[in-house]
Amino acid sequence: MSSLKEKNRRILVVDDEVDVLEFMRIYLETMEWEVTAVSTVAEAFEELAKNPYFLVITDIAMPEMDGYEFVSAIKEQGYQCRFALMTGFGYNPKHTLIKIDKTVKYPCLFKPFNREKVTEAVNEAYELYHEDVGDI
Ligand SMILES: [Mg+2]
Repeated sequence: MSSLKEKNRRILVVDDEVDVLEFMRIYLETMEWEVTAVSTVAEAFEELAKNPYFLVITDIAMPEMDGYEFVSAIKEQGYQCRFALMTGFGYNPKHTLIKIDKTVKYPCLFKPFNREKVTEAVNEAYELYHEDVGDI
């Protein structure tokens, strides 16, 4: 079975730290994902309006809004992508874990990245996205 959505290999990465974006872009591109990396929430919404993404990987601590608010805002606008969150160990880890566990339910990637975890989260999101979409 094939559908247009099954061919969606686009990942949007959002982080206010440019070196993180660059690492993620290079790392994911070597695994043949199509990656767009942006450093602001505003740019991220522009990208979402242009192309469908199966996965948005977002930083939690960002200046405009935090990753949870960002995920909620994307969902409110009706985009059907999957999500993964990124955070540094220094970012209030207990609070972060509680929120993720109770409200967000998405994989969280801790910086500095364990590459295996990134791969695992992306592959899982890819499968779930296509499961949700089903056959057209
Ligand atoms: Mg940040």
